[in-house]
Amino acid sequence: METDILQISIEKVKQSKLDKATLNGRKFGATFTDHMFICTYQNGTWQTPKITPYQPLQMEPSARVFHYGQAVFEGMKAYKDQDNKIFLFRPDENQERINKSAKRLAMPAFPKELFFEGLNALLRVEKDWIPQADGNSLYIRPFMIASGRGIFAAPSDEYTFIIICSPSGKYYAKDVKVVIAEQYSRAANGGVGAAKAAGNYGAQFYPTQKAIDAGYDQVVWTDSTHAYIEEAGTMNIFFRINDTLLTAPTSERILDGVTRKSIIDIAKSQGIAVEVRKIAVEEIKEASLNGSLKDMFGTGTAAVVIPISHFSHKNVEYKVNKVENRYSDLFKKHLTDIQYNRAEDEFGWRYEVK
Ligand SMILES: *Cc1c(COP(=O)(O)O)cnc(C)c1O
Repeated sequence: METDILQISIEKVKQSKLDKATLNGRKFGATFTDHMFICTYQNGTWQTPKITPYQPLQMEPSARVFHYGQAVFEGMKAYKDQDNKIFLFRPDENQERINKSAKRLAMPAFPKELFFEGLNALLRVEKDWIPQADGNSLYIRPFMIASGRGIFAAPSDEYTFIIICSPSGKYYAKDVKVVIAEQYSRAANGGVGAAKAAGNYGAQFYPTQKAIDAGYDQVVWTDSTHAYIEEAGTMNIFFRINDTLLTAPTSERILDGVTRKSIIDIAKSQGIAVEVRKIAVEEIKEASLNGSLKDMFGTGTAAVVIPISHFSHKNVEYKVNKVENRYSDLFKKHLTDIQYNRAEDEFGWRYEVK
């Protein structure tokens, strides 16, 4: 693909809305920084990228995204260490993945050079918005939408790529309870489950709300037969049975999470046995009952690791046996120590923003 590196035009706000006193501990995804990065695709090429004040978009009501859901996104974080150095965690993975998602939705790739130039430029402008306290970070949301006009059920001829940022505190603090899906599915064979496509998430809200109404926090998604476990809400899922770490293999239905693959690498380097294989719901129920299920947790960029204390299946509740030195706590510490530049970067995962 041809890419002329374009000069990014920067228009700054006159007055920042940053209030440093309240920067830490903010609710996840609810407030946004002063600026955003925006680049449009027209006439077959990406146009001059811009950093502008964070502001509403102007779009035609007939824009394809509203009618056909041509929209993909990413989730990343910027971390600040004790010396105010700024780091990203494996950003190449997100850059590659948004283009994989875009391809599945018949959208154009966003050039790698532009992605990194835009992201670095935006983070330099917003550096004061990156919290420093442990567990706090700047959540970064790159996304692409079909902004071209016309209600024909066909790919758009115009697209808009945007990056917005949201200062965020710790995600869930407590262990969660989940329901294992026996009726609904989040992804289909041959579908878009492996893409971070917007519609995947909208379709989860209804079954998730039913789980919440029943006193649970999230749905654990199963395959089309509802016999095998695939993901937990918008996270990948892991189990510890005896001392072995288990997770489902990625597939066309499962999102290939950066946190997931990082935890597999950390576990292996710690000498923990890892099995990446199909995991039957029945196996996990049995392990809960015989006491060998010692941990169960979701993994993703936003929350890092969320321990699961109970799961329900066919209206019966099962518990995860609580042990000392949980894998979930160990991996969360190991990963966040690397992310916040508190530990040696043994795998070369940190990327410094300069
Ligand atoms: C984003 C996402 C994950 C986690 O991916 P990370 O790269 O670890 O943030 C897992 N499952 C789904 C469905 C997701 O959308």
